Amino acid sequence: MVTTVILGMLCVYLLCFSVMFLLISTRLADKKMGMDVFALGNLLLGLAYIMQLVDGPPDWGLMSVINHILTLSAPVTYLLGALRFFGRPTPIVRPLLVLAATYAVVQLLVQALLGNEARHALLAAACVLLFLGMIIALLVGSRTFAKDLRVEMLVFAVLISGICALNAAKFVMIVNGGMAELDMSSGFQRIFYLYMSFLATVLPPCAVWLVLRRLTDELRSLAAHDPLTRLLNRRGLMDALEVHFRSRSAEPAFLLIVDIDHFKGINDTHGHKTGDLVLCRVADVLNATARQGDLICRLGGEEFVVLALGSDGAGVLQMAERMRAAIENLEVHDFSRDQAIRCTVTIGVSDPFASAQVFDEFLQQADVALYRGKKAGRNRVERGRGFEV
Ligand code: GH3
Ligand code: MG
Ligand code: MG
Repeated sequence: MVTTVILGMLCVYLLCFSVMFLLISTRLADKKMGMDVFALGNLLLGLAYIMQLVDGPPDWGLMSVINHILTLSAPVTYLLGALRFFGRPTPIVRPLLVLAATYAVVQLLVQALLGNEARHALLAAACVLLFLGMIIALLVGSRTFAKDLRVEMLVFAVLISGICALNAAKFVMIVNGGMAELDMSSGFQRIFYLYMSFLATVLPPCAVWLVLRRLTDELRSLAAHDPLTRLLNRRGLMDALEVHFRSRSAEPAFLLIVDIDHFKGINDTHGHKTGDLVLCRVADVLNATARQGDLICRLGGEEFVVLALGSDGAGVLQMAERMRAAIENLEVHDFSRDQAIRCTVTIGVSDPFASAQVFDEFLQQADVALYRGKKAGRNRVERGRGFEV
């Protein structure tokens, strides 16, 4: 009786969270992060347990075959949902249909050749293997593709280890003691469904937490980056600069303003879209030429700022010259006119500074140097008046 009540509660949890996942996925529009698939997984498992409640003892029959298919399909569905969460474009319906058909045939064969006990033992063994695979994937993921979610991955691995161990115990009990061990009034079944209820309560909020983390990380990144070039925007630059100067060992920074020469002419001749392409290619060159750890930002329009961190005056001038030369040699193809576009930049370099609070002052200083460079004929590097090499 107690186990039946626990099972009933489990069905309610699964179906309620299925609806919640579905509602969340509709709000996520085109980037559902697997929430719709998790909703399906919960629905399949909920249906399996409802069938178990309705069907009674685990006898051989169509209901039992369908029940086993649903029970095995649910964790596979969660796995497919997890792949979607990590951005893998994974098909859902076809793999599940193939699994259902294959597992139906396997069940018929095992039932015919080895009997009902073997069919139940097979389900427990299949679940053990599946959960083991999940645990390994979570452990590997915590060190590779999901490093940022390390703690979460380890928590999932621990929780799934529990259900894996319970299925392993179920397999051993069926093999040793037969179907009597699966009686709903047995202590084992009570523990099994209590643990499942615990998982059904704890895992959905964990999944929602993961989605929330991804969303807030994305929002933060969107707020800090320029959408065209993916470089930092001014706000992202200021935040990164503050983080840099907060470190006790922070060295002074040099500010470089990189401005594309006669960019308006490129827009006018080749169109705004090709102008955008030129901006992206120049951004790529800056990224490739700057030193690791330097901050690169699109300040707006065709103006970029590079903050050289941990370098001296001579090193910064060399880097600025490398950037100027690399952009001078850059060829951007205008496909609509089948023409190669070339451009140059003028770079103004500030004196070194050691606080984010004086950023505007040194931006102004680099801008004055830039203006001098423009007046002197463009395509050159100009440094601040007090600059010492
Ligand atoms: P100078 O050598 O003196 O820097 O001349 P310039 O033409 O590069 O500078 P100006 O300030 O006269 O023109 C900048 C142009 O950049 C004007 C504007 O239409 C264009 N622009 C600003 N933002 C964007 C953008 O996001 N995409 C494209 N394609 N053009 C942009
Ligand atoms: Mg310009
Ligand atoms: Mg400009």
